[in-house]
Amino acid sequence: MGKRARVCMIFLLLTGLFSGTMLFLSGEGFVYRKNEAVTAQAELVTDRMTAVRTTVILDAGHGGEDGGAVSSAGAAEKSLNLSIALTLGDMLSSCGVDVIYTRTDDNGLYDGAVAGHRKMTDLKNRLAVRRAYPDALFLSIHMNTFSDPRCHGMQVFYSDNDPTSKELAECLRQANHTYLQTDNSRAVKAADASIYLLDRAEGTAVLAECGFLSNPTEAAHLLTAEYREQTAAVLCVGILNYIKEYCAP
Ligand SMILES: [Zn+2]
Repeated sequence: MGKRARVCMIFLLLTGLFSGTMLFLSGEGFVYRKNEAVTAQAELVTDRMTAVRTTVILDAGHGGEDGGAVSSAGAAEKSLNLSIALTLGDMLSSCGVDVIYTRTDDNGLYDGAVAGHRKMTDLKNRLAVRRAYPDALFLSIHMNTFSDPRCHGMQVFYSDNDPTSKELAECLRQANHTYLQTDNSRAVKAADASIYLLDRAEGTAVLAECGFLSNPTEAAHLLTAEYREQTAAVLCVGILNYIKEYCAP
């Protein structure tokens, strides 16, 4: 696909995503910038992207018997993570970015492991995908949960093993704050050893907790395809901004 076609594609994608649902969500406390700003941003980013080839690994958290966090309505995190990862992958591909997925269906990455070892096998296999593409950007997609149901908003973690990870995390945080969650004041955080993948990953590696399933309002948003597409769109803009700032010659 040529550069002009890619620009047109992301124009259509982002215009459609943000115009269709702006009214619906504006009544719920979220304030969006006009969608013209989003399309202008997409044009700027894609226009500045040169022949540099970038690969992004999208890691949809959990899968199979590991559902991850669960909303009060019973929605499993694993499905929401996968939905956002696949949509984001389509967006990035349309912008000329090469996309690798750790999973594209409900299955976890623990095939053949006996009970009790599946979680660690799954994580090690995800890490192996990351190591197979050492120059790629790595983004793990998850949903958050907390005992206080008032907590809400995306939280981006970065691996402390490489300084570029914080730069990518900051690009994601900023795109989300600009275009989706304007009231989100959460700063990016360095991952500790409890986040296995970021603790062990080398190169540029981040994890986005896209929202709190323990917050009824945010969980209801995340259960809609429109809101997941908007989440994917801001992650896409954040990644493109990072590529523009730090990867393009
Ligand atoms: Zn998770």
